[in-house]
Amino acid sequence: MKITLIAGARPNFIKIAPVINALRLAVSEGHNIPYRLVHTGQHYDSKMSDTFFKELNIPEPDINLGCGGGTQAEQTAAIMVAFEKDLIANPSDLIIVVGDVTSTMACSIVAKKLNTKVAHIEAGIRSYDLTMPEEINRMVTDCLSDYFFTTTKWAGDNLRRAGIPDDRIFFVGNVMIDSLLSNRSRFRKPLLWDELNLKERSYILITLHRPANVDEGNKLKTYIKEILNNVQGLPVIFPIHPRTAKIFNDLGIDEPNLKITEPLSYLEFNYLVERAKAVLTDSGGITEETTVMGVPCFTLRNNTERPETIEIGTNELIGTDPAAINPALIRLFSGQWKKGAVPELWDGRTAERIVERLISIPELQNRKKPKSA
Ligand code: UDP
Repeated sequence: MKITLIAGARPNFIKIAPVINALRLAVSEGHNIPYRLVHTGQHYDSKMSDTFFKELNIPEPDINLGCGGGTQAEQTAAIMVAFEKDLIANPSDLIIVVGDVTSTMACSIVAKKLNTKVAHIEAGIRSYDLTMPEEINRMVTDCLSDYFFTTTKWAGDNLRRAGIPDDRIFFVGNVMIDSLLSNRSRFRKPLLWDELNLKERSYILITLHRPANVDEGNKLKTYIKEILNNVQGLPVIFPIHPRTAKIFNDLGIDEPNLKITEPLSYLEFNYLVERAKAVLTDSGGITEETTVMGVPCFTLRNNTERPETIEIGTNELIGTDPAAINPALIRLFSGQWKKGAVPELWDGRTAERIVERLISIPELQNRKKPKSA
């Protein structure tokens, strides 16, 4: 079984790392599973890409398609054109895509049109909010995939409702949490910890990068002011996504307790998450990580594709009205935030289960050698 793995953007690298480790292990145990890693180049900034390869011990990609930048359509098209050439030159029995970024969708379309099987890791999650590009990516990818690896039973239910047969859906847990648990003892204090004399549970961490929250400067400014006005003077750390930085840098916000940094490395960022009083975010992955680390999380969105982080974990949707920040922070400071628990199978062994599954799928083992171009 020849596999091509796809990764293109920051959250993809974190999700693919444990899958590669599990494949390495299977190969070392004698399984014949040659695999290649394709980096689409969707994220190209070293702080959004290279650092994750180094810290998470991800091998150099076999190819980087160099498809960064552009509009949604330009990027989708560029990835499709480049990946089609790559897959024709390097035929595979299976491609593995993770998450919900443009690369996930674009490569799934290409693979299916070349009659290659697709496995989607983190399949079936749904916000049903089609204003978010990620939701479109999820839906298209799940229309085309052959094997669906899910993080929760909810995700499996969404797939069954969409007509996916039960024997294609594998509830295995969460690969992002595999990365978190296997690296937790390596989390590293960032320089700013000593510079700002930070103490455990005495600062707030924020991340914002969804177009609906950051593309409009005034809205972003109101969020930041509202947060600063309600944190009782605690330092607020804001590692800023390149998309957000483009807008933020023109807003002229300079407050003594606001610390802006470039995106942090995975080990440094999660050192801060683990010790934060709370995290305010519009990221999906971070709501999962805060849930596992038991850190209060406020999501500045009106919906989520990860209901388990709310119903089981420490996350709460507070919506996109900046006026909701004040009551939420009042509850936090009065100690009323829920404690939460860890969802089923988020145990650090998901990638192993995925590889075991793949090895046991007869139609993948019995496929004829993929034809060379
Ligand atoms: N992350 C990081 N450094 C940062 C901000 C986030 O390493 O400065 C990690 C975070 O721990 C999580 C992932 O990036 O694993 C989330 O990525 P992002 O928010 O871009 O994607 P989403 O989860 O919203 O798809």
